[in-house]
Amino acid sequence: MSLDLAAAPQFSLTAEQREIATLARDFAAREIAPHIARWDREHVFPRDLYAKLGDAGLMGLTIPERFGGAGADYLSYALALEELARVDAGTAVTLSVHLMIAAAIGKLGDAAQQERWLPQLASGAAIAGFALTEPDAGSDASAIRSTARRDGDHWLLRGRKQWCTNGGYAAVSMGMFRTGGPGSKGVSAFLIDHALPGIVVEKVTEKLGIHTSNTVDLAFDDVRLPASDLLGGEGQGLSNALGTLTTGRIGIAAQAVGILAACLDASVKFAKEREAFGKPIGAFEGVSFKIARMATDLEAARALVYRAAALCDRGESFALEASQAKLFASTAARTHASEAVQIHGGYGYTTEFPVERYYRDAKITEIYEGTSEIQQIVIARALLGRLG
Ligand SMILES: Cc1cc2nc3c(=O)[nH]c(=O)nc-3n(C[C@H](O)[C@H](O)[C@H](O)COP(=O)(O)OP(=O)(O)OC[C@H]3O[C@@H](n4cnc5c(N)ncnc54)[C@H](O)[C@@H]3O)c2cc1C
Repeated sequence: MSLDLAAAPQFSLTAEQREIATLARDFAAREIAPHIARWDREHVFPRDLYAKLGDAGLMGLTIPERFGGAGADYLSYALALEELARVDAGTAVTLSVHLMIAAAIGKLGDAAQQERWLPQLASGAAIAGFALTEPDAGSDASAIRSTARRDGDHWLLRGRKQWCTNGGYAAVSMGMFRTGGPGSKGVSAFLIDHALPGIVVEKVTEKLGIHTSNTVDLAFDDVRLPASDLLGGEGQGLSNALGTLTTGRIGIAAQAVGILAACLDASVKFAKEREAFGKPIGAFEGVSFKIARMATDLEAARALVYRAAALCDRGESFALEASQAKLFASTAARTHASEAVQIHGGYGYTTEFPVERYYRDAKITEIYEGTSEIQQIVIARALLGRLG
């Protein structure tokens, strides 16, 4: 049992925020926990689960009520993702990316785009994806080469996008393509309907962890997109994509917190039950101090995530805080997932216990939606400005 979210009085969670966290916790216990070992082993993307998450109101958690969503705030979003990630990090990232794109449509989309997509996304009938990365452009997203060429009332999309989360199941993706010259100003964002001809799933990526998350390479072969599917202004696609990722980072940080909480739950239980030299192993400082540090870093990570979410909810700037939350929570998740395996000894290395999955799942939180190095660049620039 980890320290409960109720142990965060400084954030004075509202009754609604607690209800959402409890809803997500109960949902995960009922609909995910009984299946997760098999889904992980067989790399299942549980598409039906997202209809159920829609029925529970979680697919539209932060989508405004007038579009069928719950209209909840980002602290609720962080709490829900933490609870889902505590049982399955793959489900958490699917929902995090989905809601990140819904938020982008809410912020950047026109009325027609919002009315077309947000109700479907809120119900879980449609899942959303994000397509920025390319084989030769990851951290340096300004180097993307995929193009969108204007052709009358349409755009012609051509190129290849790599590692698109949800890409094989998405009904719509926010995709960034080059509409102008080189550099960041030549990029525009589009809302791409996956039913259009010419979009091909070229490869389903095999990964170290998050096996229930779908990650694919998408090829765009002269996809004819109506001109009205431009999202935000022409030439503003990269800055809009990076702004979108700022809210996404709260979600990934919450995912890391959930993995860390799961590591603590499993480690406390095992340390009390497993005996060596005639005592529970938790009686040895070599084990109990690991657990003490794990619990402390969990609370520190939670506090950073809740702070970033609360700033976002108050309409204040939160880019620095979101990067700090992601940097700290992901490092802590990776570090303590390794310690959780260590506490479990040989059992920790087997699939009999879930900690080997947490260990595999934790690593990605340091990589996607900006690596830890990129988070440090964001944090340092906020403090120092651009010196070089
Ligand atoms: C499972 C998975 C899911 C993903 N989902 C999506 C998605 O849905 N949509 C999407 O668009 N992308 C997605 N990505 C891509 C992900 O965001 C990128 O992998 C990530 O941004 C890093 O880019 P890269 O892999 O090209 O690494 P690179 O940019 O090549 O970096 C390699 C290494 O160099 C370091 N580095 C690079 N630049 C600097 C610098 N200036 N200073 C210091 N160090 C630096 C990096 O931190 C890293 O350690 C996903 C990736 C994975 C693995």
